[in-house]
Amino acid sequence: MSTHFVIIGNGAAGYRAAKSLRRADSDAQVSIFTDERHPFYLRRQLGDFIAGNLTLPELIFQSRNAYRRERIDLFLMTPIERVDADAHEVVFASGQRVRYDRLLIATGTQAAPFDIPGTDLAGVVAFDTLTQAQEVKRLLGDVRRAAILGEGVVGLTLAESLVARGIRVTQFMQGERFWPEMLDERASALVEEILEDAGVTLRRQASARAIIGAGGRAIGVEATGGEALPAELVAVGCRRRPAIDLVRGSGIEVGRGIHVDATLRTSRTDVFAAGDVAEPTGSDEFGEEGAAFCWQRAWAQGGLAAASMLDQKARPVLEAVRLRGAVFGHDLAVIGHGQLAPKDNVTAAELPGPAAVYRRLVFEDGRLIGAIVFGTGESVHELNRLVAERAPRGVVEARLGLSAEAPPKGALADTFASHCPICAAELVVYRGTQTGAVLQCSVCSTDLVVHWDGHRGWLEIGHP
Ligand SMILES: Cc1cc2nc3c(=O)[nH]c(=O)nc-3n(C[C@H](O)[C@H](O)[C@H](O)COP(=O)(O)OP(=O)(O)OC[C@H]3O[C@@H](n4cnc5c(N)ncnc54)[C@H](O)[C@@H]3O)c2cc1C
Repeated sequence: MSTHFVIIGNGAAGYRAAKSLRRADSDAQVSIFTDERHPFYLRRQLGDFIAGNLTLPELIFQSRNAYRRERIDLFLMTPIERVDADAHEVVFASGQRVRYDRLLIATGTQAAPFDIPGTDLAGVVAFDTLTQAQEVKRLLGDVRRAAILGEGVVGLTLAESLVARGIRVTQFMQGERFWPEMLDERASALVEEILEDAGVTLRRQASARAIIGAGGRAIGVEATGGEALPAELVAVGCRRRPAIDLVRGSGIEVGRGIHVDATLRTSRTDVFAAGDVAEPTGSDEFGEEGAAFCWQRAWAQGGLAAASMLDQKARPVLEAVRLRGAVFGHDLAVIGHGQLAPKDNVTAAELPGPAAVYRRLVFEDGRLIGAIVFGTGESVHELNRLVAERAPRGVVEARLGLSAEAPPKGALADTFASHCPICAAELVVYRGTQTGAVLQCSVCSTDLVVHWDGHRGWLEIGHP
């Protein structure tokens, strides 16, 4: 009988795993359960959808027919309530059960509870799924001002798309500056400057006490100081935590996320976890409060999870990127520890570059453990590898071309720009990159292989 691979969650990790499993095992039964109503879509581009830069067909990456063609059984609007690891079954809310041979949990993150009066008013929105984005879009006709409660990536993305639609935005920030657990003061200041230049009002050290309503609709926010701010749209749920409720009581070990080893196996041998929900055992990646929130990491882990579920020896995922995105059109990447409290063995260095670019490297005991790259996509891919390898300082300098030496054999002698063959995004490949290296498209995350004929470079779809 064929193996039944069950996947919970149809985001970047779950979808990639399903595709990889099908490609590797044509006999297997592959089932994906998702509580959402749409097939796989580019979640990280929901902001572009609201801003009007992407249409629905452009956002939905894979039609239902495409799943059928690939014989991947997709069950939409089917939340899994719990995992019964002893019985090797997933359990629906109705009590119905489905047996698995191998299970992948790829449930991502969910909004942390946000308990203030008024969250049930019309005009109070979360912004995590396509359905919620459609609801935001529907409401926009009546909105002139918006308040965003929480300064996570989701909130920032929404702020950007609302500004693009001519809406005045107030951003509440719990602390004095942006993302102090990931960014140093300079990078925080750059993010804040961009937001303020774009017309966003930042309210530092501010939170909301209640959402004010009239006739069942939100009309404003009452700040903790008692001040009332007008807003017809209020975004909540911007703080995220791993979606692990379904494994509680199952015997599968959890911390903040689901604990996994280097092959993404959980404490149960036939259960795997990948993407934002997966927390490497013994790593401090999630910190006290955090959660992974990174498309690129989730996509890469989907591939690794599939290989592990097939008992294949997989390439380890050299994935240290914690955040990769753009703030109002300015590239921002945080790789590993972009920010660490000063210690004797920790040093930071800024890379030279144009004024609009900020690149900070963090070394521990002379080895690269983190980087912040702001204002450019340049060197993110290389730095990801170098941080994942904890490369010594000399190697970092040589690979980034900071030393005057000629590029090593097989490496590109020049930088070239090309388009992703899948989504047409423009990608820049830098001098020093090895021919044959696999890059991921920063938009659709397709693996792309670098080719160079001595004069000209191009990208082709890779087959991991
Ligand atoms: C507005 C927005 C902007 C973003 N911008 C960026 C960005 O610029 N850069 C970046 O790197 N990342 C960004 N992200 C984050 C990125 O989208 C996530 O890191 C990535 O989607 C994680 O993939 P995943 O597969 O782990 O989980 P998800 O994509 O979250 O998918 C998990 C799926 O599982 C489903 N699910 C959960 N529980 C259950 C259950 N019990 N039963 C059935 N289904 C369930 C969920 O509904 C969801 O569909 C953004 C996210 C949002 C919402």
